Amino acid sequence: MRHRPQKKHGDDRLSTLIEKLVAIVGKSNVLTAQKDQTKYITDWPGDKTGRARAVVRPANTQEVSKIMEFAYHTTTPVVPQSGNTGVAGGSIPDQSGDAILLSLERMNIIRDISRSAQTIVVEAGCVLETIHTTVEELGLFFPLNFGARGSCMIGGNLATNAGGSNVVRYGNTRDLCLGIEAVMPDGEIMNLLSGLHKNNTGYDLRNLLIGSEGTLGVITAATLKLFPLPKARETCLATVNDISGGLDLLNLIQAETGGAVEAFELMPKALFELLAKHLPHLKQPFTDIPEMSVLIEIAATSDADAKMSESGITPIAQKLENVLADAFESDLVTDAVIASSEAQRSEIWTLRESALEAITAEGERIGFDIALPLDAVHEFVDEMAGTVDRILPGARMLPVGHLGDGNLHYTVFPKEDETANLRKHAADIKAAVYGPLSSYGGSFSAEHGIGANKLAEMTAFKDPAALAVMRRVKAALDPKGIMNPGRMLP
Ligand SMILES: Cc1cc2nc3c(=O)[nH]c(=O)nc-3n(C[C@H](O)[C@H](O)[C@H](O)COP(=O)(O)OP(=O)(O)OC[C@H]3O[C@@H](n4cnc5c(N)ncnc54)[C@H](O)[C@@H]3O)c2cc1C
Repeated sequence: MRHRPQKKHGDDRLSTLIEKLVAIVGKSNVLTAQKDQTKYITDWPGDKTGRARAVVRPANTQEVSKIMEFAYHTTTPVVPQSGNTGVAGGSIPDQSGDAILLSLERMNIIRDISRSAQTIVVEAGCVLETIHTTVEELGLFFPLNFGARGSCMIGGNLATNAGGSNVVRYGNTRDLCLGIEAVMPDGEIMNLLSGLHKNNTGYDLRNLLIGSEGTLGVITAATLKLFPLPKARETCLATVNDISGGLDLLNLIQAETGGAVEAFELMPKALFELLAKHLPHLKQPFTDIPEMSVLIEIAATSDADAKMSESGITPIAQKLENVLADAFESDLVTDAVIASSEAQRSEIWTLRESALEAITAEGERIGFDIALPLDAVHEFVDEMAGTVDRILPGARMLPVGHLGDGNLHYTVFPKEDETANLRKHAADIKAAVYGPLSSYGGSFSAEHGIGANKLAEMTAFKDPAALAVMRRVKAALDPKGIMNPGRMLP
């Protein structure tokens, strides 16, 4: 008589886990085969892959709660994931294969929109662009915006406190959120979905969860602030002498337009060159690429500012032209390309929003996502040019970024064929860039978060007292350490 081989304990535990998850969300929403898991366990650039016991895709908050309750009792690590466009390595599991990946993608219902309160209640899996188009049909505007809008989801935007290009006028995701619903590690549902603008009733748990990168709980829904949809936008690329000149221009435009600047992006020559090299199909605006340009967008929400005059120009466009004329007079601006149609506006934005793709295509590099006080950006970039060149002679530095809010996506590329040298000096370059940041009053992580990629920086540069408090908060809210372990907190 032949005996069937005994299952190992681990296999038993795995099949119990899968059975339990299937009982909660149904078989088709528990993915265990490698081929089904690939898109969830591979990060956005495609160079890192994790392992998961299962990818589980709940349909509603109650299912998330049951999954978390089960994970809590079995001490199973959980990695929440929304659009998986995060670039800090926090949205995929580690290599242990212990975690379940909890995808919010099926939770994409818009629960409510109030035109009069100018709020929308959305589930975590709503794609950012879907929120845009939904509210725009009602003449409203949700200003969070960046290149990944077609894939990233509001749960991930909140969990990372995403920034993007409109922060100069509207703030970060945190500033755009009035309330959240979250499932805590033990499965408890915390309903803070208020649409209140004032609500001083104890600790601000909403803001604790926002920016916590999946380490404290699962955000399942949010109440977001909406704004009047701009009726006219003016977009241009202006050539400035340097970063300080760009900042002077920003302040001039803000003063002359009553703070109508929606975006103010730094676009140096090296960026246009990279775009031409890797994305040659994109239309380039300059025949002679200037050393430094800024992408400026201003917007008007009033009819008075958006109405075409008899001479064929809107008041908001006239304002921009007037400011640029003044700026030419005072040598602040030496050239400008103004979009004269929505198609041209889109061409300019495509260039800016393709920056990450072109940078990634250029190959090995050291990338920084840093924040600086606006008046320190120029000096910092100048200092880094010298410092990094001394470590890696001939290195190419690319300071692209959201200049309007002081966020630089600063990239260091090696000279051609010197990637080995870049690797050799990577630690020195990081130390040289991060080291002086605090004396400039800057931050080593502006908008992308810590995830798995910046744990060493957290240890080295975060205030030790703040780190200790964070660890206590984590221990209190997630005593078993099951929420996105090994991410954000070193
Ligand atoms: C082309 C491109 C451009 C980008 N530009 C910008 C930019 O300008 N500004 C910017 O800030 N970012 C930018 N990013 C980074 C990224 O898009 C943002 O971080 C975005 O907010 C992540 O959203 P997501 O839905 O993809 O989240 P994910 O990648 O799925 O997750 C990100 C983190 O949040 C956690 N998380 C996800 N969902 C939840 C949830 N429901 N509850 C709790 N935790 C959760 C994850 O565990 C992970 O730690 C860009 C990315 C790309 C690819």
